[in-house]
Amino acid sequence: MSISPSFSWPPSLWAATAPAGPALPTLEGDQLADVVIIGAGFTGLSAAIHLRQMGVGATILEAAEPGWGASGRNNGQVIPTLSGHDPSAMLKRHGEAGERFNALLRDSAAYLFDVVRKYDIRAEAEQTGWVQPVHSPGRLKLAEKRVKEWSALGAPVELLDRSAVAQMLGSSAWFGGFWNRTGGHINPLALTRGLAGVASGLGAAIYARSPAVSMAYGNGRWTVKTTNGSVTARALVLATNAYTGEFATQLAPDIAREVIPVLSWQMATKPISDNIAKTVIPGRQAVSDTHRELYFARWDARNRLVTGGAATFPGPAGASLRKPVAERLQRLWPQLGDVTFDFVWSGYVGMTPDSLLHPEVPGFPRIHQLGPNGFAWVGCNGRGVALSISLGRELARATQNESIDKLGLPLSAPSPRPFQQIVRRLAPFALPLYRRLDAKEI
Ligand SMILES: Cc1cc2nc3c(=O)[nH]c(=O)nc-3n(C[C@H](O)[C@H](O)[C@H](O)COP(=O)(O)OP(=O)(O)OC[C@H]3O[C@@H](n4cnc5c(N)ncnc54)[C@H](O)[C@@H]3O)c2cc1C
Repeated sequence: MSISPSFSWPPSLWAATAPAGPALPTLEGDQLADVVIIGAGFTGLSAAIHLRQMGVGATILEAAEPGWGASGRNNGQVIPTLSGHDPSAMLKRHGEAGERFNALLRDSAAYLFDVVRKYDIRAEAEQTGWVQPVHSPGRLKLAEKRVKEWSALGAPVELLDRSAVAQMLGSSAWFGGFWNRTGGHINPLALTRGLAGVASGLGAAIYARSPAVSMAYGNGRWTVKTTNGSVTARALVLATNAYTGEFATQLAPDIAREVIPVLSWQMATKPISDNIAKTVIPGRQAVSDTHRELYFARWDARNRLVTGGAATFPGPAGASLRKPVAERLQRLWPQLGDVTFDFVWSGYVGMTPDSLLHPEVPGFPRIHQLGPNGFAWVGCNGRGVALSISLGRELARATQNESIDKLGLPLSAPSPRPFQQIVRRLAPFALPLYRRLDAKEI
């Protein structure tokens, strides 16, 4: 078994700007808990907060520090949808559970901002809306379908024609699109650390620098071991997501092999002058378009545009992305002039492509019951900020014997991929294909 307890913070904009989190101990010795949670990202921390709200004890084991995984590295876009699948696809796949999950997704962005307001978390939260502009005239049909489906579920979505998008984004590069007013953006590491402070304040025990190396169920209890101790509990939430195999390869190998962790690069520009900034996404919405090689951007609290991309050969510290991503920003917003980046960092997105024939279509999140009172989810496919806060709540409720048919949890059996390590290595080579497909669309 390989166990790696060492870690360092990625050189991100968020690490440079987020307030410090609570000082946390490491686990030494054997402990008892009501619910043991592995992983202190949005999912694990949200689960702990909701458990404490129900008066249930919660103990979190985190291999590094809260927010070290995807929760502290992402673009911070609060998006109330999945990336590849719309409500009708969820219904087709999961029936009634899909219906409850669609309702969870619809409300997920609003819920995140409610949590931030309720606990007064300093996370630079801006509920300015989330926009999905389309990159070809043909894709307008997709925007129309999405607006129709989400409107039928009562989501505040609106179709935007080409001129409305141009006005909203300050760019004539797109052909229309849609937006959802409940979305927006946050400083994700500040939010994670804020949630850790809230969970601690409510009485959850959080142990940092304490990687779980094994988990097992026996005699009506879950036991999770670390190198220096253990936690035994009635219920378990595995909240390690795309980082499941990162510290202990044998912790949950089937879950780790379900996702393809794909490196996503994030980049923050130098601060941009006020007079130019007010012409680029003047309403400060979060933006992610319909390219397979996603174009995305949002403002931070200090006039930096936070964007990013993917690369087959990223080079040291993502050096090979600097030029093409700067050129892309200049194409989208010529008024920016020269673009340079102060921060470049990366993190793993858990992809679950459902068809080998169409690997570019992201899959469904996988939510599992691991045994009596044991739950996990993986596979955000790049849309997990809002989702993981709401799923943390539902997983917490599931551990308290809430009937599964009342929860927004479309459960499925774990389905590890036999060639996951090979697919993981080959995934970056799909990028040139995505670019060709994107360019060919009309
Ligand atoms: C670069 C990037 C950009 C993204 N951008 C967006 C975006 O703009 N909008 C959006 O909606 N989604 C985005 N996502 C996805 C989103 O960040 C994730 O879905 C979400 O943060 C998942 O949260 P989580 O708590 O489930 O997992 P994580 O935040 O990854 O937390 C898992 C935790 O488990 C810990 N862990 C792992 N192994 C062990 C172990 N053995 N013992 C103890 N602890 C362990 C890790 O250290 C980590 O802290 C992005 C992801 C990345 C990587």
